[in-house]
Amino acid sequence: MARYTGPSCRLCRREGQKLFLKGERCYSGKCALEKRAYAPGQHGQNRKKSSDYGLQLREKQKAKRFYGLQESQFRNYFEKAAKKPGITGDNLLIMLETRLDNAVFRMGFASSRKEARQLVTHGHFTVNGKKADIPSMQVAAGDVVAVKAKSTSSPKFKEIREMTISTPDWLSIDTDKLEGKILSIPTREMIDTPVEEHLIVELYSK
Ligand code: SF4
Repeated sequence: MARYTGPSCRLCRREGQKLFLKGERCYSGKCALEKRAYAPGQHGQNRKKSSDYGLQLREKQKAKRFYGLQESQFRNYFEKAAKKPGITGDNLLIMLETRLDNAVFRMGFASSRKEARQLVTHGHFTVNGKKADIPSMQVAAGDVVAVKAKSTSSPKFKEIREMTISTPDWLSIDTDKLEGKILSIPTREMIDTPVEEHLIVELYSK
């Protein structure tokens, strides 16, 4: 599957918003968007007003990039969300938010979703005591996500034991035990992803 391998910061500049793709750098003065708050490319500084379609497309791209997904994966999530009862946009964000890699990131075990995906793929986590190395796995209320016993001595996770981590209301974290719990499935209000999901629904419903 083709994956974007270009500079991450270019994606934020294209969307005009921080997508937090580079861990700690995103929270520092080194953030490219803080230095160059305009779209990349020759005409980046003279942006035209977008059409409705343009706005919908940008919103979809932003959400897709925020969660680090490819178009086909993102489209699959939309189709599943549309089949579920309730509001499609809410369903979409909730499904994205409850991916294992996102939960690992939100628990503070990784500084970006990209790093979280890599840690999961490399087998550093268990869910309810069982090996869990698929980043797209959906977590459920009551699930316990833990650093695998063998991995707890790695410097990366030792550091976390010293940290105070604040998590969204739907998660809890025990840094001593290096494990987090899914307290509930998040509601839309608990998800701070800066996306107007109704624009995505409009785009895919055409
Ligand atoms: Fe985006 Fe982070 Fe780069 Fe800033 S440092 S532009 S938030 S990826």
